Amino acid sequence: MATQRPGFPARLDLGGLPRPAAGAVPRPAATGGANLPGAPLRPAPGVARDPIPARARMVQQLAAGGVHDAEVLRAMGAVERHRFVDEALARQAYEDTALPIGLGQTISKPSVVARMIELLRGGVQGQPAPGPLGRVLDIGTGCGYQAVVLAQLATEVYSIERLRALHEKARDNLRPLRLANVHLILGDGMAGFAKGAPYAGIIAAAGGEAVPEAWVDQLAWGGRIVAPVAGSGGRQALVVIEKTRQGITQAVLEAVHFVPLKSGLA
Ligand code: SAH
Repeated sequence: MATQRPGFPARLDLGGLPRPAAGAVPRPAATGGANLPGAPLRPAPGVARDPIPARARMVQQLAAGGVHDAEVLRAMGAVERHRFVDEALARQAYEDTALPIGLGQTISKPSVVARMIELLRGGVQGQPAPGPLGRVLDIGTGCGYQAVVLAQLATEVYSIERLRALHEKARDNLRPLRLANVHLILGDGMAGFAKGAPYAGIIAAAGGEAVPEAWVDQLAWGGRIVAPVAGSGGRQALVVIEKTRQGITQAVLEAVHFVPLKSGLA
């Protein structure tokens, strides 16, 4: 891996994607939180017309496509993605495709959701994931699907959305699931969400030109950020940032396509 020493906010030059890179930036020692113990699993309640075979097939395809973390696969198998999209799109809900959720936004492909959560848990390069996630900040609630997948794996999920209509849609989608460990926030996720910090993980479903410094500040020691970041040509890549007392490392992984990270509420 090539070495890169990012400043923060981290900016990328993504000339020749995919181009893995990692580097270390020393950070001053300070007191911070650590991973919290994992919560018991909360399977999504069943629905009479839930197309279980289709979801099971989706999980098989995720595994065949390189998702190795059994806990992530289990969570992807537990959450009824078809309940988060319009009825007209429900038949496509278990295909590996992004789907519109209104206001020009999309629910990410299942393979991207699974890949990012696997990275968030530390399951990089075939290493086994170390254990349950503590508190997680989910930037870009959208319809709430990813927040619910995260809720299967993390003690607490703080999920923030800047568009009021989507925040309310997510509220409606989550109400019947009665997940006590998911907190939906209407706000600008570019500033993170300080009240829930420090986070064991921060995951973003929208890509800016840099990882906001607030996210790094609100990350616990030993925590990880997984986010799309656009390079100079506008092309996005998945970035994994790890914050340790020895320094901050950043790895630039594969090319991705996410909606833009925007500031302010709407
Ligand atoms: N994880 C979502 C994906 C939604 S698409 C899901 O499972 O449905 C990404 C979302 O990020 C959009 O809803 C967009 O409005 C939101 N977004 C973009 N910039 C944001 C910001 N600064 N703060 C919070 N949300 C933001």
